[in-house]
Amino acid sequence: MGIEIKTVGIIGAGQMGTGIAHVCAASGLDVRLNDRDPDRIDAGLALIDANLVRQVQKGTLSEEQRRTAMDRIGKARGYEDLGACDLVIEAATEDEPTKRKIFQALCPSLKPDALVATNTSSISITRLAAATDRPDRFIGIHFMNPVPLMQLVELIRGIATEDPTYESAKAFIGRLGKTSTMSEDFPAFIVNRILLPMINEAIYTLYEGVGSVESIDTAMRLGANHPMGPLQLADFIGLDTCLSVMQVLYEGLADSKYRPCPLLVKYVEAGWLGRKSKRGFYDYRGETPVPTR
Ligand code: NAD
Repeated sequence: MGIEIKTVGIIGAGQMGTGIAHVCAASGLDVRLNDRDPDRIDAGLALIDANLVRQVQKGTLSEEQRRTAMDRIGKARGYEDLGACDLVIEAATEDEPTKRKIFQALCPSLKPDALVATNTSSISITRLAAATDRPDRFIGIHFMNPVPLMQLVELIRGIATEDPTYESAKAFIGRLGKTSTMSEDFPAFIVNRILLPMINEAIYTLYEGVGSVESIDTAMRLGANHPMGPLQLADFIGLDTCLSVMQVLYEGLADSKYRPCPLLVKYVEAGWLGRKSKRGFYDYRGETPVPTR
């Protein structure tokens, strides 16, 4: 049997860290939120509160529940403030040296039986585990963005991850009301391994002039019943992120079928990164998105 998770530490108060803190606190867990930049913690807490207020307005949460959830989230100024945590989830910037340094500095502050997890989208779990003093208690817990809305969480076992660690992580995800899938530690895990090559293929379809942006997205929405077209989805994910996942697949699996489409590279070089930069396969500067090709 693994340990029961009651207090969760989160390192990185960005998009993902705040989303994870939100769902943990709303599910009755105590949270300690850390970031190397204290302003990010304050901004993260304000964002969580605003999102909880929206849930109260929608009637999915009571005002009392909102207040209790906010009270459950404490600030962790240093790693010593994470000493009581049963699980610490690292959700800092996607950069391997940064993550390795975090784990090395964090571990001496933890209880011996505490679990450590990473929310990385692409870095090897086994390699990150090796930067800790507990590879057997280390696991990938890959939340999807936006965390409060997405039902799936991928659990990724490193080579040394032991069964009780996996069982505890699985029970933790169940406690959050979410569904987990189990993946072995290979590049891009399951969701991105399947999704990104499809998006890349949609970009090749555009690049080769088979169809326009509009035709490709309409075809996949109405012909394959996808809720969003692949190019619209690429803009939502961020084209830089799409390119980086394709590069991880291409390098990690050494197979030419994962070659990033030159048109994707060109958009990223132009700084057309999708919604976040207001231009990608669509232009978002006006009232309605307009295809850029
Ligand atoms: P983000 O840039 O929004 O947030 C990263 C945060 O980490 C920042 O607030 C930064 O100040 C903080 N940080 C950086 N170095 C730190 C350190 N040494 N100690 C403490 N905090 C530090 O990034 P994000 O989108 O939230 O992504 C975080 C992680 O989640 C990445 O590993 C990413 O691959 C993964 N992820 C992202 C998505 C997504 O769609 N954005 C989806 C799944 C997983």
